[in-house]
Amino acid sequence: MMKTWQVGPYHDEWVVIVHADTRGQARAKGATVDGGDLIDMRAIRVPDLDGKLVTNETLRDAGFPETWEGEKLDAYGYIIDCGCDVCKASLREAQERRGKQELIQVIHDGLVS
Ligand SMILES: [Zn+2]
Repeated sequence: MMKTWQVGPYHDEWVVIVHADTRGQARAKGATVDGGDLIDMRAIRVPDLDGKLVTNETLRDAGFPETWEGEKLDAYGYIIDCGCDVCKASLREAQERRGKQELIQVIHDGLVS
């Protein structure tokens, strides 16, 4: 099982979740996000997410903030699909959830208009 890491630049606020065996691999994956500089990337272990899908629930359980700059926690924003099966499954889950929310919104809008 690959280890779970939270990766982001030292001088910026954003982080993403990647899976890698080593810190170096995790930083390299993070550096692909923003054309970022590998030197600038830091990777922090998130053992609470090891072996788990990246969802709103697991992120919350791992201590991620419920809201960030007014935006509600959304696992979708943390998944970059680092190429592993966990990310693929997490992305599917996040997209399905988003799809359902949009559908509910469409139905709701239809009812009120
Ligand atoms: Zn992954």
